[in-house]
Amino acid sequence: MDEIILNSHLHTLNSDGTGSHKDIALAAMRAGLDAVVITDHNVLVNGPAGYYKEGDRRVLLIVGEEIHDQARVPQKDHLLVFGAGREMATYAYDPQILIDAVNRAGGLAFIAHPVNPAVPSQNQTDISWVDWNVQGFTGIELWDFFSDFREQIKSLLYGVYYAYFPNRIVRGPLPAALRRWDELLSAGKKVVAIGGSDAHAYKLHLGPLKRTVFPYEFHFHAINNHILLPRPLGSDAISDTSLVLEALRQGHCFIGYDLPAPTRGFSFTAHGLQKVALMGDELDRKGGVTFKIRLPRRTDCTLFKDGKPLRTWHNRDLCTHNTTEPGIYRLEVYIQYLGKRRGWIYSNPVYVE
Ligand SMILES: [Zn+2]
Ligand SMILES: [Zn+2]
Repeated sequence: MDEIILNSHLHTLNSDGTGSHKDIALAAMRAGLDAVVITDHNVLVNGPAGYYKEGDRRVLLIVGEEIHDQARVPQKDHLLVFGAGREMATYAYDPQILIDAVNRAGGLAFIAHPVNPAVPSQNQTDISWVDWNVQGFTGIELWDFFSDFREQIKSLLYGVYYAYFPNRIVRGPLPAALRRWDELLSAGKKVVAIGGSDAHAYKLHLGPLKRTVFPYEFHFHAINNHILLPRPLGSDAISDTSLVLEALRQGHCFIGYDLPAPTRGFSFTAHGLQKVALMGDELDRKGGVTFKIRLPRRTDCTLFKDGKPLRTWHNRDLCTHNTTEPGIYRLEVYIQYLGKRRGWIYSNPVYVE
């Protein structure tokens, strides 16, 4: 499999971001990304999609959108839509109708920032997802930068501090988001987890202080999606976009926080009698299953079964586990960084049946 790195959930000048599509593509190339997904609010800006090149670098820019009902009081339920090929914001008035329309159009629907705490000091309200009876969505944005940030700004002073030291913010997906994901999985749903930046590159003006808060390039070194493709990216942007989105739909991916150390090379496979399953795949337990885990460096990781920790390894880079039990198996990997234990890698599950 060919591993590519994709950063998701970026806003441009077409909604409330401060950069253009080209600015984002250039920043992504400099950061060494393979692909980005732009998701402006309630508008599909298709024109700028495609490959961008500079010297021997290039990046695939995919255009999706982030849709919500602007008339809803209070504001909730943001949905990330990729690959629908046409404007979907017209269905924003009802989350289920919207998800159904995305599915009919062959697109992917991810629940954005499922748990998004309010920030009273900044007059920001909670914009979590609340309509959890919806069916048919592809997955959830399990780990998004801003929800992690919002939970930590207790006053304006914290906000300013973190604007200067953004690498101190990221800790991991919010526990409530992880609980929600495990509940959905335990209810028999296949739910793909992705990471998101929700990048805006806000301009901060506070007296003499002027600063771009969390520039795009910062995000591109932080919470990324590492996607496993059956072939390397080629030269045709349309077929490569389909390839990337199809791998995301299958859950052939993991979330990596690449700032403490690159997560490239992480691998979590399940070996059965008939086949080798990737993250996102199903596997028959007959004859037994062996999980093989490879970490890009020695650290701690925990194998979860049906939402509960099953086994933890300390200071290891190769781990194996045998089972004959059906269940939903996923992996969390932690790393020590700037004086704290932080989430480093969150795998998608292997479904053993
Ligand atoms: Zn949003
Ligand atoms: Zn957003």
